[in-house]
Amino acid sequence: MAINIILLGPPGAGKGTQARRLIEERGLVQLSTGDMLREARSSGTEMGKRVAEVMDRGELVTDEIVIGLIREKLGQGGNGFIFDGFPRTLAQADALQALMAEMGQRVDAVIEMRVDDAALVARISGRFTCGNCGEVYHDATKPTAKPGVCDVCGSTDLRRRADDNAESLKTRLMEYYKKTSPLIGYYYVKGNLTPVDGLAQIDVVGAQIGKVLDKIPRWS
Ligand code: AMP
Repeated sequence: MAINIILLGPPGAGKGTQARRLIEERGLVQLSTGDMLREARSSGTEMGKRVAEVMDRGELVTDEIVIGLIREKLGQGGNGFIFDGFPRTLAQADALQALMAEMGQRVDAVIEMRVDDAALVARISGRFTCGNCGEVYHDATKPTAKPGVCDVCGSTDLRRRADDNAESLKTRLMEYYKKTSPLIGYYYVKGNLTPVDGLAQIDVVGAQIGKVLDKIPRWS
């Protein structure tokens, strides 16, 4: 039986990196609203342009747009999702619960990735990704072996996000504390929240998450 999990944590906590591991190791499907919105903005539509402005400022896009994107993806079927960067508000959490119930599924685990603010600033300011395969790098902690070339797929399309700068990070962190951090209490009360130390090495964090997933009785 498939499981569904949420990776919850501030920008730079390592949600995307861990989601990529889980795709490989557990065959789960990643649903990143950030990636979906970046796709929408590159489409050049009116909606895409509005979304781009909001994202570049570091603010949250409206619940309506984001829930619509998730509804569309879930409607395409599939089993076993990693929600990465969603939900980010209580309204989104309620909407997700309703959508899962409609599908006869549930959120099995919420992984809270704990990282202190100073580490987030350092992580975000050196981050870049491969535009082709999505591998995540960092200038100081995980540079490419050959400058300008992705280790995984050999692409030279390495990109930095427009919102990975000090100014918009400040807003993104404030949005996290004001609107997203209440979800920690929400899922704690629901009984499926597990904190992990997001400051540990990537493999160590992955192992901690693995332990949580292995404890889910429906995992097979
Ligand atoms: P991320 O890639 O998850 O860091 O998201 C990048 C940006 O996309 C955020 O700073 C928001 O502007 C927007 N975004 C992503 N996911 C959501 C969400 N669930 N709700 C609202 N805005 C979102």
